[in-house]
Amino acid sequence: MRDKLRRRYQAQREVSQKGYFEGEIPLTDLVRLREMLHCEQSDPEGRKIALKFEFVRNEYDFPMLAGHLETSLELECQRCLNALEWPMTLDFSLMIDASDELVRDSSVDTLYSEDGFIDIVEVVEDELILAIPLVAMHEDTACNENWQVSEPETAIKDNPFAVLQQLKTTD
Ligand SMILES: [Zn+2]
Repeated sequence: MRDKLRRRYQAQREVSQKGYFEGEIPLTDLVRLREMLHCEQSDPEGRKIALKFEFVRNEYDFPMLAGHLETSLELECQRCLNALEWPMTLDFSLMIDASDELVRDSSVDTLYSEDGFIDIVEVVEDELILAIPLVAMHEDTACNENWQVSEPETAIKDNPFAVLQQLKTTD
């Protein structure tokens, strides 16, 4: 069954109906996420998150929300502070209102409903926030010509065994 996207879904009812939904969420709806993006967004109104998700039961008959989303965000390059286009494709699979016991024993994350309702915009926003890199940079390391890295220091810091290896070879 396909339906137009709404914001809130009654979890148990959708699970029993095997609800399947497809649509787009405007990026402007994701207020928390937007604070983490480059401050001067190009085309902020036009950006969307393409989304499909379904309410299912897993192999233990437990209610789940499983989905797939695609978008492209504008992050801030930590080297030059300019905008950095960051395409994202994510799959998520979350148990709905699992008990503490189940959460402890399972590797799957849990989503908690609010009085039985799930806000899909919140879910998508949480997933994207978790998936955004803490430090994003352009692939071209020369994007900021004033950027300087002192190479030897980084090499030793990154690989503590480099020092040991040096000792070995002088042996
Ligand atoms: Zn850059």
